[in-house]
Amino acid sequence: MPFQLPAEFRDQPTPFYYYDLDLLDQTLAALTAAARPGNFQVHYALKANSNLPILARINQAGLGADCVSGGEVARALEAGFGAEHVVFAGVGKSDAEMNLALAADIFCFNAESVPELRVLDELARAQGRRARVALRVNPNVDAYTHPHITTGLDANKFGISLPDLAGVIDQLDQLPNVELIGLHAHIGSQITELSVFAALSRKLNDLQTWLEDRGHRLPHLNVGGGLGIDYEQPDQHPIPDFRTYFGMFEQHLVRRPGQQVHVELGRAVVAQCGTLLSRVLYVKESQHTRFAILDAGMTELMRPALYGSHHHIQNLSRPAGSPEQAYDVVGPICESTDTFGRARLLPETSRHDLLAIRSAGAYGEVMASGYNLRGKAPALYR
Ligand SMILES: *Cc1c(COP(=O)(O)O)cnc(C)c1O
Repeated sequence: MPFQLPAEFRDQPTPFYYYDLDLLDQTLAALTAAARPGNFQVHYALKANSNLPILARINQAGLGADCVSGGEVARALEAGFGAEHVVFAGVGKSDAEMNLALAADIFCFNAESVPELRVLDELARAQGRRARVALRVNPNVDAYTHPHITTGLDANKFGISLPDLAGVIDQLDQLPNVELIGLHAHIGSQITELSVFAALSRKLNDLQTWLEDRGHRLPHLNVGGGLGIDYEQPDQHPIPDFRTYFGMFEQHLVRRPGQQVHVELGRAVVAQCGTLLSRVLYVKESQHTRFAILDAGMTELMRPALYGSHHHIQNLSRPAGSPEQAYDVVGPICESTDTFGRARLLPETSRHDLLAIRSAGAYGEVMASGYNLRGKAPALYR
């Protein structure tokens, strides 16, 4: 079904985000059905979208929470996620953030360096607790995605590189207040070449054997997130191919008896249910280019400016099949990167037309800024 904005929102002041909670529920149903046969534990990465109505649905569907800040840990708990289903990742966790997560007794810290482990050990001792940790390894697997959102290569700041792992494990033996329970890897985002997850699985298999040779048998494996979505054709593929995704791990990851496998998905859960709605302020024709200047910009949706990413754009005010022209669709912000798309074919577009910028549910509203002293666009749900 092509996208339609519910009638009650058509006269709403723009810009605003609209979330289709039915599509979110359908996505969650497909996800949990695909995860069930292999008994995968799915954690939702809050950083993709942390709005409470969305978190409530995700929590109801039985997912855990993957957090990358103290604020997200607090939000997850506020939204009703049980602390025993919360994991906390991030390359730079502050003492205050770790203390908050320790006090809540979250399930697991995904730790990324020896200095971090030392601080965590001290803070846990001070609280009279033992922190469960998974070591985030950098498996040096190419995710074949945009360089700005790849995280699993040696050149990235994330994780512990494999040559350093032996040293980290030795250090762990001297930290009595942290308990090693697992391995964690997250190699990138918007991954559409799913064989990447087979390569990741094989790396983890080797690592596990290596760890077992050193006397460490780990009850948990966390393979991160990164499953991509179809930004080009959101109506053809509103729900990601979760079956093939989990199938990769079922086929290639050698699970030890009783071992639990965790995944952390953000984008794949929420991207397609969110749309940014904006009206055309002006159509400006210059010698070479026809610009559609919108009332939304990079302050509402930063992904195109940040990563040059593509979002499908539709003019909802013109009937389908109208003759089309090429427009550069831009925002009002004083930055040249404030551009949603170049040479986009749209029906002849005029002032006040309502445009839908699709697939904006993940890494959209959460990255909104007040640059140029702009107000925050509201979120509407149905
Ligand atoms: C961002 C992130 C995720 C989620 O990534 P998606 O590509 O949105 O699925 C999962 N785990 C960690 C550690 C992350 O930083």
